[in-house]
Amino acid sequence: MKLYRLIASEEGPTKLFVGGLHGKEGLYTAPILERLANESVCTGKAIIVPSLVKQSKYVDVLSREYYQSKEGMKLVRLIQKYKPHFYFELHAYSEQSYSGLTDPERELRIGVPPFVDLGNGILLGSIAPMLRSKFSESDFCMTIEVPNWKSEDEEVKAEVLQILKLALSKTKCEEVMLELRMKYPVQIKKAEELFRQYYRNRLKPF
Ligand SMILES: [Zn+2]
Repeated sequence: MKLYRLIASEEGPTKLFVGGLHGKEGLYTAPILERLANESVCTGKAIIVPSLVKQSKYVDVLSREYYQSKEGMKLVRLIQKYKPHFYFELHAYSEQSYSGLTDPERELRIGVPPFVDLGNGILLGSIAPMLRSKFSESDFCMTIEVPNWKSEDEEVKAEVLQILKLALSKTKCEEVMLELRMKYPVQIKKAEELFRQYYRNRLKPF
C-alpha cells in the first residue's frame, strides 16, 4: 500500500484521504489521489492513500463484514493511528450502480441516505455509519464517488481533484463547506438536508 505524508509549515488539522477501498476501484481513484499528493496547497498534515487495496473481493463498506476483512481492518488501523479530523473516502462506481446510489428511497431500502450528484456523475455523501462512529462529532467525514466509466474524462478528474484540494488546503471544515455551497448550492443543500435527516441533528454535516 502506497502512502504519502504531506506536512505543511502552516498549522492545521490532520487529514486522511483514502481511495480504492474494495474491488478494483483503486484503478480509478489512485490517479486522482496521486495528483492530490503532488499538490502544494496543504495545510496541517495530510496522509494520502491512493488505493488501500489493489484488487480484492468487493465487500460493501456499509457491511460489518468489510471491517472484518483485511482491507477494512487496515482502514480502521489507519484511522486509529493518524486520528484525522478530516477524512475523505474516494470510491469509484459503475454506471449500473448509479440509480441505487442516488435512489431517493435508499434510506428506506438499505438504511442509509442516497448520494447527491454534483453534476457529471460525481457523487457526494456521508461515510458508512459504522465507520462514522470511530470519529468524534466535530470531525469532518465525506465520501466522494467517481463515475468509473468517465475515468478518462479530464474534466471529471479535474473536478474531483478540485474538491479534494479544497479539503487539503483549508484548516476548518466550515471553510470547505462554504466553498462547496458556493460551487454547488442546490446539491450541497440537498446533501446537508439528507445528512441532518439521517443523524437527526446529532451530528452536523459532515
Ligand atoms: Zn467503493
